[in-house]
Amino acid sequence: MPAVNRTTRENVSLKGRVLSVSCILFDLDGTLYDSPEYSVRLEAEIVRFVSEQLRLGESETKALLDRRRKELGTLTRTIQSLGIDRNAFFDTMADRIDPSLYIPGDPTVRSVIGTLKERGFKTGLVSNSGRPLVRKILGAVGLEESLFDVTVTSTEAEPKPSPQPFLLAMKKVGCNADEIVYVGDREEAEIRPARRFGLKTVLLDRDGATRMTCADVVIRNLTDVLDVVRLARSNESEQAP
Ligand SMILES: [Mg+2]
Repeated sequence: MPAVNRTTRENVSLKGRVLSVSCILFDLDGTLYDSPEYSVRLEAEIVRFVSEQLRLGESETKALLDRRRKELGTLTRTIQSLGIDRNAFFDTMADRIDPSLYIPGDPTVRSVIGTLKERGFKTGLVSNSGRPLVRKILGAVGLEESLFDVTVTSTEAEPKPSPQPFLLAMKKVGCNADEIVYVGDREEAEIRPARRFGLKTVLLDRDGATRMTCADVVIRNLTDVLDVVRLARSNESEQAP
């Protein structure tokens, strides 16, 4: 397993890097909150809704969804591949689920974003969920949409790993790719595309399970973001701490 060990050691050393940027874009699900209870509730409602739409039994639907998700990598792609409109899907999820029952408020997240803003960073949100569901989840976590300079959801753009949401966020926030760091929890759907478009990247790896990543920096807690970014004043590049 030499390759795995080498990557792990590199990840540890990457923790010492500090990224000079003007804007920090956050993923939402799995990054600004992590709630297994919500995931279980959402999963049950996804199966129920898709089963209604396709007129299939729930166990058949679940097997189909599992298969497609493995092939396609993301929930939104899976939903669209079944001929279901992603906005109709997310609107229904927002109608049927109250995220605040499952996602506890988290003052730490608010504090991290508040601190970044105080330090002069622009902040943004790039989520694969639709806007009505994003609003409800932000409310559950205890964040107002207005805390972010830009919010892009799958209501306005194709979901990640499509380039659309990254490009739209960059345009709306008025920063070049190399002035932005993207913080997310999924390697394939988020970190790789963000890096492909020239953004700097931070992988949030809560359980330390990731062995291979192309992220510039790997962190274990969201609060670590505060230690791995510095405000770019001019044409700065990465600096040693
Ligand atoms: Mg995520």
